[in-house]
Amino acid sequence: CVLCRQAAADPRVCGSVWKFGRVRAHLFCALFASDLPFNGAEEAQFSVIGNDDVRLVAERVAQEHCFVCQRSGATIKCSCCNLRFHLPCAARGQCVAQFYSDFRAFCSSHSPRQVVQVTPESGATCLICQEAVDNELCFRTMVCPTCQHAWIHRACIQGLALSAGTSCFSCPLCRDKEAFQREMLYMGIQVPVRPPAWDDIQEYAGQMERHQRCNASECLCPGGRQQEEEEG
Ligand SMILES: [Zn+2]
Ligand SMILES: [Zn+2]
Ligand SMILES: [Zn+2]
Ligand SMILES: [Zn+2]
Ligand SMILES: [Zn+2]
Ligand SMILES: [Zn+2]
Repeated sequence: CVLCRQAAADPRVCGSVWKFGRVRAHLFCALFASDLPFNGAEEAQFSVIGNDDVRLVAERVAQEHCFVCQRSGATIKCSCCNLRFHLPCAARGQCVAQFYSDFRAFCSSHSPRQVVQVTPESGATCLICQEAVDNELCFRTMVCPTCQHAWIHRACIQGLALSAGTSCFSCPLCRDKEAFQREMLYMGIQVPVRPPAWDDIQEYAGQMERHQRCNASECLCPGGRQQEEEEG
């Protein structure tokens, strides 16, 4: 990829590699590139990109440094300041990339915050991995905006979103889909637009089964601990 220059970059973060004229770049590295004329263009409009655009941008940002890895060629600029970074460096630098419409990205100081005013009860764990969450909402620890009781790690919910896709991705606890997906997209979770493959459905069901009983010390589930258990 001429944009991030990281051959080993995770395709789940950067997307597949596309050919742009004589050069190749990850799909999302291109969509998030702040200096490309089509920044924010939908995937379907990719056919109108000039063949040389990606190469020219790669040359133009050759001297721009990534504030995370300190290396050059940082194609993404924070929407609020001049800090730049590479897409594969985003998570390590606690930067947020919003995988929809304008494909905006933010450095760690300007990354979006959840507006709900809730704090995890002591001993609260992530619904997906069952490990402890942080003691406040932060880059790593998020909550479902609907039930405000489903604590999730960013990395864990990102994994779930990738296997569920837009058709299945919902709160692991209250199953709210619309507001939950909107909030997760806003917070930088990538939710692929596709119906889930059968293997994904099974994997998703498996991940759901792990939350069989609410283990919060003070259960605030709308239907109480037992109901959650019955619903599985
Ligand atoms: Zn790339
Ligand atoms: Zn970097
Ligand atoms: Zn910024
Ligand atoms: Zn987790
Ligand atoms: Zn919920
Ligand atoms: Zn509960």
